[in-house]
Amino acid sequence: MKVDCIVIGAGAAGLMCAATAGYRGRSVAVLDHANKVGKKILMSGGGRCNFTNFSVDATNYLSRNPHFCKSALSRYRPQDFIELVDRHGINYHEKTKGQLFCDHKSSDILQMLLTECDYAGVEISTHCTVVKIEQEQGDGGFRLRTSLGDYRCQSLVVATGGLSIPTMGATGFGYEVAGQFGIQCLPRWASLVPFTITDKWQPVISALAGVSLDVVAGVGDQQFSDPLLFTHRGLSGPAMLQISNYWQPGAPLTIDFLPGHNLAALITEWRSSGQKGELKTLLSAILPKRFVQAWLEQSVGSRQVQQYSDAELDILQSQFHRWTITPSGTEGYRTAEVTMGGVNTDEVSSKTFEAKKVPGLYFVGEVLDVTGWLGGYNFQWAWASGFCAGQYV
Ligand code: FAD
Repeated sequence: MKVDCIVIGAGAAGLMCAATAGYRGRSVAVLDHANKVGKKILMSGGGRCNFTNFSVDATNYLSRNPHFCKSALSRYRPQDFIELVDRHGINYHEKTKGQLFCDHKSSDILQMLLTECDYAGVEISTHCTVVKIEQEQGDGGFRLRTSLGDYRCQSLVVATGGLSIPTMGATGFGYEVAGQFGIQCLPRWASLVPFTITDKWQPVISALAGVSLDVVAGVGDQQFSDPLLFTHRGLSGPAMLQISNYWQPGAPLTIDFLPGHNLAALITEWRSSGQKGELKTLLSAILPKRFVQAWLEQSVGSRQVQQYSDAELDILQSQFHRWTITPSGTEGYRTAEVTMGGVNTDEVSSKTFEAKKVPGLYFVGEVLDVTGWLGGYNFQWAWASGFCAGQYV
């Protein structure tokens, strides 16, 4: 089969790229090895797909070249995707911090992309293993040997995503293709991922599994104000996932469990107003009871609020406002939302997404070394990079 363009990977970026190219009159085939397309879209946002964010700019992304993403993000904005969503009559809402979720289900977004591909005349094949890619001599282009037969194309788009959630069909195929053509890949690791804790805090944290509270979490200069969730294995929740993008093994995290308050000042106020009662009772009005109990047990214990010394107030202050912990690691690709690192963006045009060394070969989406924050930023990158490449393939 001969087409103008083959897209490998029927995920967010691949489907967006295919539809865009199809609307330009290009003949497009999308090949995916999985039994179903768009699996990560379906499982995203807890089943409601956080498909974009009202406010997106380059500061929401990590990449060795922080400027690379700017061009595509400015050419395909959240508003452009929202207009598409509106045209398809999909209802959505802002949950928090500009994050847009479907009212109904993630499948609305996948169906929208498939409808767009259908209108644009795109052929999509699942259960397709790409066995070999060869560059054609003469006119250029590529020849693909696949489990569904041979394909030839002028433009080849690699949209195979990252390594997270292997059970959903994630592979390192995109990095292998880059390697085959001498295109550099940067080291990769799991990100937007929960932390594991194995030190003395492990039993305390494990006993709090299921407790969630708003915190300010920091690593180095980076801070996020979001909920934290204790788990049997360690620390999760949006605050931890965000921080994981900036964490390096061995680095301590600092967590303020009472942001917007000053515990020492509160206790002083309770004392001077003659408040009676144990500290745990008073604190449980503003923090989850199980957490208060455990945190006091690990520091100075709970007594009548009048009975704490100044030295103990200092201990409480650091325990609640500046708690530090060094995770032993992360849960890895098994539960990570994204892969940090990937195809070096220096190797790819930020305008067309074509590999500088290999005319006709394109990389879009998460396979590239561009990783967004939690909050719809990774899909916005998939849409933007897919759309921009789709205009040139
Ligand atoms: P993918 O969407 O991963 O698509 C890659 C495609 O390539 C897949 O269909 C795969 O089957 C196919 N493929 C892989 N290897 C091969 C191969 N060898 N041959 C053929 N095909 C292959 N981001 C957000 O912005 N908002 C969210 O709410 C959100 N929630 C998430 C929840 C979870 C649990 C996870 C894991 C991720 C979430 N993300 C979210 C991140 C987001 O899903 C990804 O960043 C985005 O899907 C990347 O798009 P992509 O097209 O580059 O890759």
